[in-house]
Amino acid sequence: MSIQIPSNVSNTKPHFVLVPFMVQGRMIPMVDMARLLASHGAIVTLITTPANAARIGLTIDKVKQSGLPVNFVCLRFPSMEVGLPDGSENIDMLSSLDQVKNFIDAVCMLRDPLILHLRAHKPPPTCIISDSNHYWTRDVAEEFKIPRLLFNGFGCFSLLCIHKVREHKIEEKIVDENEPFVVPGLQTMVEITKAQMPGNFSMPGMDKHREEIIANEMASSSDGVVVNSFDDLETIYCEKYQNAIGKKVWTIGPLSLSNGDFGDIAARGNKASIDADRCLSWLDSMKPSSVVYVNFGSLAHTIPLQLIEIGLGLEASYCPFIWVIKDGERTSEVEEWLSEFEKRTRDRGLIIRGWAPQVLILSHPAVGGFMTHCGWNSTLESVSAGVPMITWPHFAEQFLNEKLIVEVLRIGVPVGVKSPTVLGVTPSDVSVKKKCVEKAVRSLLEGEEAKDRRKRAKEIAEKARKTVKEGGSSYENLTQLVQVMNARTA
Ligand code: UDP
Repeated sequence: MSIQIPSNVSNTKPHFVLVPFMVQGRMIPMVDMARLLASHGAIVTLITTPANAARIGLTIDKVKQSGLPVNFVCLRFPSMEVGLPDGSENIDMLSSLDQVKNFIDAVCMLRDPLILHLRAHKPPPTCIISDSNHYWTRDVAEEFKIPRLLFNGFGCFSLLCIHKVREHKIEEKIVDENEPFVVPGLQTMVEITKAQMPGNFSMPGMDKHREEIIANEMASSSDGVVVNSFDDLETIYCEKYQNAIGKKVWTIGPLSLSNGDFGDIAARGNKASIDADRCLSWLDSMKPSSVVYVNFGSLAHTIPLQLIEIGLGLEASYCPFIWVIKDGERTSEVEEWLSEFEKRTRDRGLIIRGWAPQVLILSHPAVGGFMTHCGWNSTLESVSAGVPMITWPHFAEQFLNEKLIVEVLRIGVPVGVKSPTVLGVTPSDVSVKKKCVEKAVRSLLEGEEAKDRRKRAKEIAEKARKTVKEGGSSYENLTQLVQVMNARTA
């Protein structure tokens, strides 16, 4: 679908209102998007809440210093009104799955404060880019009679697969959760199970929200979709997705490549738990493409027994590694085990407890592989750095991302996991044994196939770098998006 660049471009800047969902994997790319839109001539308001803003305080300060017209607006989050502890403003701050419904209730209550804010401030909004979970932003767009674009943090391949499965009502027809089926209407044969498809928070009390979110994701009530991806990565899937929804798809990624400055790269989403210089000097001491980096994103939680199995697998592989263990995973049992493990692997292992400067690590030439949960941001960050992956999907659309990485792009080795975890809840047993971890690490880093995989990954990374430069498709799409909205202000 081609878009005509309007001739009636005005001198007034278009005002984009960005409404990210409160989870790191959606906030981080939208903050990047805010900066990018502003650097392409837009005025941007990014809606957040106090606890989420506090996490990205360094980024907010840097954006302010840069003089870019990005305004971070904090709306009070009504945690108490829905019975959540004060300050529970992000999915990763919830203590149990039972709280998700209340959390979404609170999120929906942001509609009126957002309308009041936009009414009271100038300039008036030109366009909303809303996370697809915020189905209530429909009302905000209607109130101001402005277009609403969706952002749901996924790539075009998974968006297309989800669309096709829903369109053909496949999940309704399948009884056995673990019976593989082929996603219809794709050029590639993609086999998946119902259990591995994204479930949209299928926890108690969520029926109404789930229906609304799914309907919203089908994009019929929106004016287009903004995707953190680039045409050269998923060409046919971007086109097919655009045709399937009949709406413009704006591919403007990889958004992480907008972080040119060392400080921006080192502090994305949270303050890193390790000094960036220490991390870099450790990496400097390792051979090129020798280190495997292990991190499962911001939400997935790994139980102690599984952590130990990962550690033993890394140890047996004899490869250098950086392993990120979240604060919430560090039980006394884990810490006790780690103290001995760290002594044994001191010369080639670095453990980061908490939040890692992921993009900084992936960009270092010593990193040769990324053991990832296949979150879309992590996937794209690895692609952008030319780093092949060991795929260990957990939930959401991560099993579909694994298909793209391993079968379509051929830049990954699967660790072999078949069953998903529910958001935040880990299986009580070990799902991947140390032998599988060791085998996956070796096959990613050693041998002829590994060389080919690395070569392919480097070629795709080169395309990623080009796409965000002037003349590249993502750069031009972004320019066009701003121009199209600019014409509305004329
Ligand atoms: N991230 C990071 N350090 C960490 C963990 C995560 O910088 O220790 C960032 C990562 O670079 C990515 C985001 O958090 O931008 C995670 O998003 P993703 O879609 O990969 O996974 P999710 O957290 O949503 O499961």
